[in-house]
Amino acid sequence: MMRAMQLDCPGEPLRLVERPIPVPGPGELLVEVSACGICRTDLHIVEGDLHGPLPIVPGHEVVGRVAAAGEGADAFSIGDRVGIPWLGRTCGRCPYCRSGRENLCDDSLFTGYTRDGGFATHCVADARFCFPIPGRFRDVEAAPLLCAGLIGYRSLKLAGEGKVLGVYGFGAAAHILAQVAVWQGRRVHAFTRAGDEKAQAFALNLGCASAADSGAPPPEPLDAAIIFAPVGALVPEALRHVRKGGRVVCGGIHMSDIPSFPYADLWGERSVISVANLTRADGEEFLALAAQVPVRTQTRAFALEKADEAIATLRSGGIEGAAVLVP
Ligand SMILES: [Zn+2]
Ligand SMILES: [Zn+2]
Repeated sequence: MMRAMQLDCPGEPLRLVERPIPVPGPGELLVEVSACGICRTDLHIVEGDLHGPLPIVPGHEVVGRVAAAGEGADAFSIGDRVGIPWLGRTCGRCPYCRSGRENLCDDSLFTGYTRDGGFATHCVADARFCFPIPGRFRDVEAAPLLCAGLIGYRSLKLAGEGKVLGVYGFGAAAHILAQVAVWQGRRVHAFTRAGDEKAQAFALNLGCASAADSGAPPPEPLDAAIIFAPVGALVPEALRHVRKGGRVVCGGIHMSDIPSFPYADLWGERSVISVANLTRADGEEFLALAAQVPVRTQTRAFALEKADEAIATLRSGGIEGAAVLVP
């Protein structure tokens, strides 16, 4: 039997369930989970900001070892360590898939959202969408790389080549991205919830050039800004601080409404863009880069059964870095 923390109804606690260990279908792997990170997207799913099929086992930053492989899933061997990311499957046929933009696929499956994820002892995944994990990372350390790291990296790519970067919301994604950006020779200015001195000290520790409340102006104009906090009001705020030609990248899957703002703040070829999902190429590129930097993730581990406590702690801003469930 396997154990999982299952979401039956948004807004209610997750429920510990036992069920038979699934048999992987053609092209699929059965993975014995050793760690699964908790992402802000999981909070949105659990709280009902995002509506997927129910019941569902959340979790899309899954690290584990291959316990069984279905027919044709021969890219990995039994015992191999793999990571299972948010992008669970794509159609391979739609115009997006055929133009290198599988992150926008019209007919995709998402781990922990539209197929069961890693808040569990076992998880089944399409082998084509799993990644090998670089050997230098331990299981718990590697988990946040799989979404916080990956989405942070895709956001950084979309932000462009500018040297001066603002980051709004200093949680799991920002703490990874800041390390990559500093390693690339950029200056990173971090913005947190008002008065969150712990997060600001954390940002400075990771090499950020400054850290302040999100209402404050940056010490220099920004070439680009990335917003991880799900707060729409930060979009016009960030726009006011980016130079001409600069970009504001919204890195989350859900955000409160964006208030109206004067066109003058967008003028000068400034742009606002969202980041959706990931491609497998992003994953391969980022995991290699993370090992090269090397990124050091800061994690706090919780037992699988303590998922609700971990989620509540994350929601209240009580986690520095990333929360990870360990079955
Ligand atoms: Zn597609
Ligand atoms: Zn995520």
